[in-house]
Amino acid sequence: MATERFARVAVPVPLGQAFTYAVPEALYERVVRGSRVLCPFGRRQVMGVVLSVAEDPGDVPREKLKPLRAVVDDQPVLPDELLSFLVELARYYLAPIGEVMRLALPSIERQARARLDQDGALDGMKVQSVGRLVQVAKFVEGAAEPEKLRGAALELFEHLRDAKQAPVSELTQRWGNARAAVKKLVGLGVVEIVKEPKTRDPFLGDEVERVPAPTPTPPQVEAVDAVCGALAAAVAAGQSSAFLLHGVTGSGKTEVYLRAAERCLELGGGVIVLVPEIALTPQLVTRFRQRLGDGIAVLHSGLSEVDRHVMWKRLRSGELKLAVGARSAVFAPVANLKLIVVDEEHDGSFKQEEGVRYHARDMARLRAHRSRAVCVLGSATPSLGSVAAVREKRMQRLTLPDRAHATATLPKVELVDLRRVGPGPSGHRLLSLPMHRALERVVEAGEQAILFLNRRGFAPSLLCESCGKVTECPNCSVSLTVHRSRGQRLHCHYCDFSMLPPSKCQHCGATKLSEEGAGTERIETSLSETFPTARVARLDRDVAAGLKSEKVLARMRAREIDILVGTQMVTKGHDLPEVTFVGVLNADAALSMPDFRAAERTFHLLVQVAGRAGRGDTPGTVMIQTRQPEHPAVALAAQHDVSAFIDYELEARNELRYPPFSRLVMVRIDSMDENRAVSHADRLADVAGKAAPAGVEILGPAPAPLSRLRNRFRFRFVMRAADRNALRRPLLAVARAPVPAQVRVSWDVDPESML
Ligand code: ADP
Ligand code: ZN
Repeated sequence: MATERFARVAVPVPLGQAFTYAVPEALYERVVRGSRVLCPFGRRQVMGVVLSVAEDPGDVPREKLKPLRAVVDDQPVLPDELLSFLVELARYYLAPIGEVMRLALPSIERQARARLDQDGALDGMKVQSVGRLVQVAKFVEGAAEPEKLRGAALELFEHLRDAKQAPVSELTQRWGNARAAVKKLVGLGVVEIVKEPKTRDPFLGDEVERVPAPTPTPPQVEAVDAVCGALAAAVAAGQSSAFLLHGVTGSGKTEVYLRAAERCLELGGGVIVLVPEIALTPQLVTRFRQRLGDGIAVLHSGLSEVDRHVMWKRLRSGELKLAVGARSAVFAPVANLKLIVVDEEHDGSFKQEEGVRYHARDMARLRAHRSRAVCVLGSATPSLGSVAAVREKRMQRLTLPDRAHATATLPKVELVDLRRVGPGPSGHRLLSLPMHRALERVVEAGEQAILFLNRRGFAPSLLCESCGKVTECPNCSVSLTVHRSRGQRLHCHYCDFSMLPPSKCQHCGATKLSEEGAGTERIETSLSETFPTARVARLDRDVAAGLKSEKVLARMRAREIDILVGTQMVTKGHDLPEVTFVGVLNADAALSMPDFRAAERTFHLLVQVAGRAGRGDTPGTVMIQTRQPEHPAVALAAQHDVSAFIDYELEARNELRYPPFSRLVMVRIDSMDENRAVSHADRLADVAGKAAPAGVEILGPAPAPLSRLRNRFRFRFVMRAADRNALRRPLLAVARAPVPAQVRVSWDVDPESML
């Protein structure tokens, strides 16, 4: 009797484990690890990925096993290396393997549809690309000019003979009757029609010229040598290594990435470069193209599903060897991966905060480690976790101590104590007199300034002058923000709620309501009034999404803006050489967040913002307004003293037993029904406590700082241990506990946000 075969299959459904199926004999050859298969699932048929094939079904009773229906691809859809990584990621985060697969394979359900042949034959399976296909007219090489060609057909023939090929849609724009003419040429055998997937990538729109590399500075040489040596060892001996490249903003870290990527490609390896927000970093993409050409897959949220699929396939096939993208690019199917770069590794956007809550930086290290590749994390303000990894010798530190341009020095930072100074002529507390004077000077000198305020909208709240309460969102435990430009409405920044400003207080009915505090919109308005000759612009999510923000930045670069007011968006790595002044309007907002990382985040933010000043030839000035000028996160940022801050903060974390001196798992419980949420939170904390080995602490349960969101009451507790493995058993117990109706439970391994 022939041996039986069974496949473990990851299916994209939100359940914990993989499922076992029987493999029909006709499919033995093609059902291998990594292949996509169609399998019955309940009443549906879903597409899954084979994790393993065995001759033994394990502990599942044979008679319960259903057979696989069909195999979709001729080759495994995921390279083995990527598949192993995904399985490990699923284990690390205790995330459903099917969901993890979905992260890496956006095409699993949406891009390809498998259909049975009319006769139902299994091997008649076809995968249909649902992509838009573009008809391209191609000149048949060597074809002679047919006789008696006239009019459009003759013009088209000549055009295609020179151009070799052109999309039909383009031809019809020039020749109204192009379709008929092309058809004629096809009939004559001199032109053929091929279908090509349509790709439109805004980043690859224009041609870029190659730019020669600058002569590296001695610290760059040292860093590049170290990384290139490691790359050689990775390629030759399968040895993995990890580096932390610590260099102040403008010190030339990107130059190090470029040289490392160049070398990696020379050695035949593939490269992934992760950046915080790809839409805000087209400059980085341009620099890569200037040096390495167009063989780059840029993965960003602006891509259509089809384009994404095309990029994915080109990477998978090895046609493209370098992928640049935001956090999800850590799943790029780059062939023979030998280098992963994570730029601005401290950045919070590498953490996915919904679904599978993975951290792309941590997973970059894991993937590099498993695939015997080199990982380079770069930052001006390294995360404490990475610093700890260096101290524990799990990573090697490389340093670029100075700015690359000899003339560009770090800006002078002045602290303004908001407790001691009053407002300037605008009357706004956040536009203090010293801030006003500084802006006046910049405007008079014809220079450029950036003002940072992490609050969009006109005013953060609408306050009742009689009872002192603010107008709140009916769905969330937050105050509504007053917006003027978005139709004079109050908006909730957490849910979709908005309303016209109420005529009376929702608490006491009094009619005098005042707009409290200032957001970017209000500052922009005030500045326009106070500095009538200056061109003021704003950059925040209300003005600009994705690529549009690049337009505002382009105007800034073209010097069409004198003062740019903005949120976080203005702090990211833009190279704006003409900016001489940066003002931080309120450093305390970030400091007061109820989160043990508040100081670290504030420090990163201040150093990043300060790094925007004086990147060109004019020295820059930075002014930070705060009520806590003596707080180390503020005082040390003002002195650009990253290592002193790291020492201070590591000591504080050690004392409080927070990461990197412990590992955390946060369990979140929410429900529309507050009682259900509370009681299940209590139950789960109990379950976790009973399953936990000695040394695990359960902190909570307690209401989340944002206690109600979208009408759901939120509770959480934190499990803490010195060692990650100790948290596994209590987490499994939590994951396996039955969840009552109307309650949602999720867990966050290595949580970043404590809200
Ligand atoms: P970072 O990534 O650390 O912020 P960049 O790589 O963007 O720094 O470098 C900052 C500026 O210095 C860029 O304009 C870059 O072209 C320039 N630069 C980098 N390395 C050198 C070098 N070795 N010689 C001259 N200019 C350099
Ligand atoms: Zn809301």
